[in-house]
Amino acid sequence: MQENNSCAPLIRVKTENVDQQDTPEGRFPDLKMSFLPLLCNHCSHPPCVDVCPPGALAKREDGPVILDKEVCDGCEICIEACPFDAILYNPEKEKAEKCNLCVHRIDRGLEPFCVICCEGQAIHFGDLSDPDSEVSQILTKKEAILLENPEGVEPSVYYCPPRAPRGL
Ligand code: SF4
Repeated sequence: MQENNSCAPLIRVKTENVDQQDTPEGRFPDLKMSFLPLLCNHCSHPPCVDVCPPGALAKREDGPVILDKEVCDGCEICIEACPFDAILYNPEKEKAEKCNLCVHRIDRGLEPFCVICCEGQAIHFGDLSDPDSEVSQILTKKEAILLENPEGVEPSVYYCPPRAPRGL
């Protein structure tokens, strides 16, 4: 939480249990649970940017969609516009909040904090326009998918198929 100065209970990357909340699928010992992290998709054509009256949201040339808290007036219009439910309203600060892809780290040559703190090393970050980047290589090998999205939005977060289950 300290990395991005966020405050509980607002969570910028939600993790949803795909099947049933906190309930594994199947019969013991063949149990299975799937989780889906939901975050800002840093869309190529982000509707949140288009609708923001004070211009607090912007798409950077290198990809991240960032929200400037100093400029945000808390109108919440962006929250309605986001098809991925990725923007939150912070009632204490009376401002919108979202994942800024840790641009304060990227700009120092570091990876986003979710990448380094994921114990399963399941999150990868990089330049999809570079065919030699790690993320491009992963996409050529796996049948990754995008979340269902409105035409023209073009999300940038890909989901790889789940790994084979580990034995207990
Ligand atoms: Fe904006 Fe939502 Fe797309 Fe993120 S996922 S860039 S908040 S429209």
